Amino acid sequence: MQTGINSGGTMVTQHAPTVSTKRNQPFSALSGICTLLCLVAVATHASAATRLIDDADIANQANTADWLAYGRTHNEQRFSPLKDINQGNIGQLAVSWFLDLPNDVGLVSTPLVADGILYFTGTMNIIRAVDARSGKLLWEYDPQVARAVAGHKKAGWVHSRGISLYGDKLFAATWDGRLFALGLKTGKLVWSTRTYDMSEALYITGAPKAFKGKVLIGNGGTESGPSRGYVSAYDADTGKLAWRFHIVPGNPADGFESAAMEMAAKTWTGKWWEHGGGGNAWHGFTFDDELNAVYIGTGNGSPWNRKIRSPDGGDNLFLCAVVALDPDTGEYKWHYQTTPGETWDYNSNMDIVLADLKIDGKVVKALMHAPKNGFFYVIDRRTGKLISAEPFADVNWATHVDLATGRPVERAGARYEDGEENIFPSPFGAHSWHAMSYNPQTGLVYLPTLHTSADFVDKSVDPDWKAVAFVGGTAVDWSQGKDPRTYPGSLQAWDPVNQKQIWSIPQQHSWASGTLTTASNLVFQGQADGWLIAYDATNGKEVWKFDTGLGISAPPITYKLDGKQMISVLVGYGGGMASRITPGAEDLGWAYGVHKRRLVTFALDGEINKLEQPPAQFAEPILEAGFDVDPVLAAQGEVIYGEQACSACHGLGVIAGGMAPDLRASAMPLSEMERFFVNIVRDGERVGRGMPGYPEITNHQIEALRHYIRQAAHASPEGSN
Ligand code: CA
Repeated sequence: MQTGINSGGTMVTQHAPTVSTKRNQPFSALSGICTLLCLVAVATHASAATRLIDDADIANQANTADWLAYGRTHNEQRFSPLKDINQGNIGQLAVSWFLDLPNDVGLVSTPLVADGILYFTGTMNIIRAVDARSGKLLWEYDPQVARAVAGHKKAGWVHSRGISLYGDKLFAATWDGRLFALGLKTGKLVWSTRTYDMSEALYITGAPKAFKGKVLIGNGGTESGPSRGYVSAYDADTGKLAWRFHIVPGNPADGFESAAMEMAAKTWTGKWWEHGGGGNAWHGFTFDDELNAVYIGTGNGSPWNRKIRSPDGGDNLFLCAVVALDPDTGEYKWHYQTTPGETWDYNSNMDIVLADLKIDGKVVKALMHAPKNGFFYVIDRRTGKLISAEPFADVNWATHVDLATGRPVERAGARYEDGEENIFPSPFGAHSWHAMSYNPQTGLVYLPTLHTSADFVDKSVDPDWKAVAFVGGTAVDWSQGKDPRTYPGSLQAWDPVNQKQIWSIPQQHSWASGTLTTASNLVFQGQADGWLIAYDATNGKEVWKFDTGLGISAPPITYKLDGKQMISVLVGYGGGMASRITPGAEDLGWAYGVHKRRLVTFALDGEINKLEQPPAQFAEPILEAGFDVDPVLAAQGEVIYGEQACSACHGLGVIAGGMAPDLRASAMPLSEMERFFVNIVRDGERVGRGMPGYPEITNHQIEALRHYIRQAAHASPEGSN
């Protein structure tokens, strides 16, 4: 019987990652001597002249030896000029080395490469530096996130999408709200600063963005409490706050931080500040070195439902927008709002890609953006003026975007005016944080797409609804609606100039990774079912694939060392879908603590043609003999399970998708184990593995949770007989 619980309860740093470079090599062979090797390697690198990474380096598209920033270069295109791996030889591509990450869970981040060293962030914000030639671990830094969140009810996930490099430092942000700098060569902490107070129901999953001697960070948390979004830029050398830009206005009685906030306040009604307003910038930061601007993709409203948030209407600036700021001062330059007066969780936190596009015979400094709302936007980034917008997925909240006004034309009923409506796309969006790439040779964008709809219902919402910190809420109920298509995801090639789809690959599982495109006319994407696939960039024909044995959510990168093109990717299904916030992930059989999470690197002379992984494994719910489920208690437990965001890791309906133990199959909630269950839930005994403690939870609430879990176990197909 698979219980879904690992023995032990060890802290993450107690198992060293292990590297393998040859087929059949024992996974643990190098772990024992790793510490010694690390010290030697660090000493060697420390003696070399220290490279100072600057904006010219990060903007340099011809530099193929490194991958210095989230989207490779400042333009965020994820396009590499490398052609060594091409359609003529891709059949030889195999694993050169891989590094096992025994304590990691969901891996969603983009690794960075500088001077032959690959840096990445894993589960619980642990930062690692690895020799990109061999996979040897050079150093590891653990920001002790578990210790920081101990005793706090936290929101969000233990994930991070990336890090940033600048000067001689690496920058990362933690789940609990710290931004810190490490010495690139040493892995030692240089500075650390707190970007929000621990009392705030916020979290950080995003990569900081470094530019012009500063490091920018925002946060997530719009659904976790009354939240007012902002971004902050810190001095890269000292960690001192340089500037902060609020995304939504506060209470006018307190005065406005800027003229931009005064302008924004005119677009709100009611007492929005009591709800926070939202707008949290959890992803989507792009620095424009040509025009000296930083573009921020902003979040949805807090709460989602505008009838509650801003009852007399209004656009609610700067929700769901691209906002251009002065990178030196944080001053507002322009904005383009993709979803005025949002009421569907249609945030605009998705990536922002810069390119020169030839439109109507003229070269335009364009910005491309495909937010949740299902429209693909091309914007003149000198002014923020909309050039074009067309739907790239099924959309029924708006009929089109009026190019004269730049505004979407909503259809009647879209705002669930009558209290109920089926809307495409769902709050997952037609595109989420999985990065799109742009290939200037094909002129196409390679866009990971989701196909879902949602039934919104707000008939029973209390007009006096108020958000409570650390208790999830949106002021509107929603559930997954009918499937607009027979497939939940797709990869599509989108022509941004003519705003039309060129090709599309339907995918039977949604939540594929971000994409990478190369000058050899290839597009790479990792799949939820574990395949890394290369497509012909022109026609979408599959030209190569490799089964990594575990779902991939992180985007692949490429770089060239010693005359050899390498492709690296983190393997470890993660993010909201892996948390099974919607059904589907459990069908993949990626089990917590079973499948090996890994950093995998491919090259043409790689010698490993198969990565060993256990087969798909499905939870077997435990039927507790003699346990009578009390439906009243179980119903109370369901509410607690939802409010405390248990589903964020343990899955909707107590069916896990691999991010955490499936509680139906866990021994912990069984009656005879109750005191262990209390230790874990109330006392935070497993906080080291990402399970926060809930110190205020009562015995009655714990009992209610146990009844809800048993009810789910007994009701599941495996449990009902
Ligand atoms: Ca949201």
